[in-house]
Amino acid sequence: MATRRRLTFLVAALLGLTLALALLGPRPSAAQGESVHLALGNPSGAVADPAQPANFLIVRPQYALGYLRDDGIPRWVAWRLVAADIGPVARYMGNFFRDTTLPTTPAVPIAWYRVRHSDYTGSGYDRGHMVSSEDRTATVEDNRATFILTNVLPQSPQNNRGPWLDLENLGRDLADLGDEIYQVAGPDGNLLDAMGNPVRLPTALASGPVRVPARTWKALLAVPAGAGAPIARVTTATRLVAISIPNDKDDPGVRQTDDWEQYVTTADTVEASTGLDLFDALPPTVQRVIEARADVGALPYTLTISGTAALSATVGAAFPSLAVRVTGPGGEAIPGVAVTFAALGGAANADLAGDVVATATTDADGVAVITAVAGAAEGSYTLEASIAGVFTPAVFSLSNLAPAEAPETRVFLPAVVR
Ligand code: MN
Ligand code: MN
Repeated sequence: MATRRRLTFLVAALLGLTLALALLGPRPSAAQGESVHLALGNPSGAVADPAQPANFLIVRPQYALGYLRDDGIPRWVAWRLVAADIGPVARYMGNFFRDTTLPTTPAVPIAWYRVRHSDYTGSGYDRGHMVSSEDRTATVEDNRATFILTNVLPQSPQNNRGPWLDLENLGRDLADLGDEIYQVAGPDGNLLDAMGNPVRLPTALASGPVRVPARTWKALLAVPAGAGAPIARVTTATRLVAISIPNDKDDPGVRQTDDWEQYVTTADTVEASTGLDLFDALPPTVQRVIEARADVGALPYTLTISGTAALSATVGAAFPSLAVRVTGPGGEAIPGVAVTFAALGGAANADLAGDVVATATTDADGVAVITAVAGAAEGSYTLEASIAGVFTPAVFSLSNLAPAEAPETRVFLPAVVR
């Protein structure tokens, strides 16, 4: 009897403890500054605050994301991929996991719907990983973390298994070569049905909480390996690939055999469409250049400076010979290619400060020329010439020189004698 009473007490105590832990809610996410996955930014300024259910930050060792409670999908997921993340672990083959770290409140125990594996069943949409399973194969725990349904959104099979997978493979190839790959991916818009109604998965909840995006996008920044903070290793020459893929399962325009190159866009376009600021921790001068450039893949072009790379001009005068030559694999001239010239280096030149400044198209000899005038301020800066998709830009060093000083003129006034 006494034993049973003691046992009852123990069970009650354990229940109480469990309840108390439940009331405390999930363990708070690591501060954003501590996550390598947010080293280049937090695209929506998401916070781990249950009072912000449309911008809720979840940080795991494997990735970070901003969650949309009422849509049952992430707003964005960010993760770093390095060669060490790719290991021997086989893909987890079980059901996807509900995210048990989502907040609950004492008053409404299931205030945050936890999307289930079966919510996707029979919908015709794949459980589309944002951080792919193959990007996390160093440990069993890492791999399983990608199967938590807050890292997942409904993706049409031809998108998920076609061009989306194709770009995932590029990320892993670049990581294998030694780059640090910073990826951000997520949904854009809400797919509409034939009646113009937003498409949601027919889950058990009457409201159907899982939104089917109209498109899915990804931005992939390939940061060269090196010491120090990754942010310091990103320049205007750093490769940034952005894609956006239509996500309607009934869309015959997207095919599983498609390459990612067919869905190239710019990070700027993704930002304008989603309201996010990708890679917002990077200097604005760098964001402006790389986010405006469409990386269309590896073009077989070589870019070389025609003439001298270090040029100077007196303020107000034109720099001579700002010209580059574009050649193909056999050294042949490539006409009709648009070359972008972009300046870095602050206020050294009023006309050429930190933005894309000019484009010129190559002539029959493969040469593109621009005219640039040295601004009023003395100083030096760099000007990069590149073609979208060519990652060895030609770099000019330019200097604005002060005009030669005019000879001093002395005026001798007659002495006044009183
Ligand atoms: Mn996938
Ligand atoms: Mn940005």
